[in-house]
Amino acid sequence: MKISEILKKHKKGVSFEFFPPKTEKGKQALLTTVKALKERKPLYASMTCGAGGAIQDKSKEAVYMLLEEEELVVMPHLTCLKAQETDIRNLLEEYKQKGIRNIMALRGDPPQGVSDFDFSKQDFCYARDLVTFLKKGGDFCIGVAVYPEGHIETGSLEQDIEYTKQKIDAGADFAVTQMFFDNSYYYSLLERMRKKGINIPVLPGILPLTNIAKVKEFASVCRTTIPKDIEEKMGSLSLNPSDMEKCGIDFTIKQCQDLIKNGAQRLHFFTLNKPSVIKAILDAIL
Ligand code: FAD
Repeated sequence: MKISEILKKHKKGVSFEFFPPKTEKGKQALLTTVKALKERKPLYASMTCGAGGAIQDKSKEAVYMLLEEEELVVMPHLTCLKAQETDIRNLLEEYKQKGIRNIMALRGDPPQGVSDFDFSKQDFCYARDLVTFLKKGGDFCIGVAVYPEGHIETGSLEQDIEYTKQKIDAGADFAVTQMFFDNSYYYSLLERMRKKGINIPVLPGILPLTNIAKVKEFASVCRTTIPKDIEEKMGSLSLNPSDMEKCGIDFTIKQCQDLIKNGAQRLHFFTLNKPSVIKAILDAIL
């Protein structure tokens, strides 16, 4: 089923994002995670992907593993990075045969250590170009990424919303946000989108706060603000990881409750393939 249809029907719910495992042990852990979270009747599940070749194959393999879990709507992510038109065409054909109706279309980040990577030399330069190609290539429902604080490479929020509109006008059906920890950025994004005439569903992407050092590292490369009070509170618990995790989970519960109170009743969780944290949050908010 298309996610756009699911979102029309369900005004409340959760979705889960997983990443492809690299080892046999990782595969078993993913399966256990998916089985545990499937009980929560997610709107859909998505699978991230890396760039090209073997890494992309691992993503595809993980997508097929999830498809074996009946009743789960699975959306693979696809990136422009190193993607050749013919390979994408073949992959789409394969996905269609497997009954996949949804694709998350992304540009991808520059390869590690190559900050001046030239995306314009590739078959697809921006997510917008991939969306256009996917629309021509089949009857897929397409998700795209949006950025409450603006994408890290964009000069201004005005420019960011202009480019966001381009990929949505190219045919995106819904969007999922980058992680954020201050909900006011999400509410402002919705306001900017509304003013620009963008009316597709925008699911807030929730990264549970568990390890503050790791999240700080990640946040610094993707322009996400961590509120000072929670950073200090969790930082002061760094010698006691389980207390730090509990503190972070409490924060994420409050974040979700605020979103729900303000009308964002469909939440997308970056699960990091760890069910216990997500379950603790869902127990508190649903
Ligand atoms: P785009 O929308 O193409 O934007 C990239 C940059 O180009 C932005 O700075 C934008 O402002 C600018 N831009 C866009 N259009 C134009 C234009 N016409 N002219 C000039 N500049 C323009 N990465 C992965 O590798 N694998 C994943 O599975 C993955 N999943 C993700 C899931 C979510 C929910 C999110 C939020 C991100 C995910 N990412 C993933 C990360 C994403 O690939 C990076 O953030 C990437 O840097 C940008 O991708 P995009 O699709 O938003 O790119």
